[in-house]
Amino acid sequence: MNYDEDKIDEYTIALLYLVAHERHEGLGARAWKGFDWDTLNRLHEKGYISNPVGKAKSVGMTEEGFLKAKELFERHFVKETKTIPFPKLTPPAKKRLEQIPEQARKDVLENVWCSQCRTMVALQLREGEMLRHTLVLRGTCKRCGSEAARVVEPV
Ligand SMILES: [Zn+2]
Repeated sequence: MNYDEDKIDEYTIALLYLVAHERHEGLGARAWKGFDWDTLNRLHEKGYISNPVGKAKSVGMTEEGFLKAKELFERHFVKETKTIPFPKLTPPAKKRLEQIPEQARKDVLENVWCSQCRTMVALQLREGEMLRHTLVLRGTCKRCGSEAARVVEPV
């Protein structure tokens, strides 16, 4: 059979995101490695995962690999959410969120702990409010759809 190896690599690394765990910001993650052996070796050669050879049931994902996996997973497997496109934020919450520099805001919304996925995920923002001086953002996990929230402490 004539495989499109690049496509297999792309979908495999996207699926590695689904089985990723032990995510450490900036340091990659680990992922269960029950995938095609040749594909895993190619992903290793591309610098996305550690050497898959060994008895461990999981493989290390480099930071680059984890981010690539997340991007591809969201591109190929995440359903278009039916949630309201404009999150409901109270005016003070909106003001507070807009004070956060764009990159940092993106980091806030894309690094939310999901208790179901047991890893950091992107938040589909639904609503936000200020509780005293703390910004509370609520929404759903972009990966599994369960409730997730992010708190931004006052600066
Ligand atoms: Zn989740």
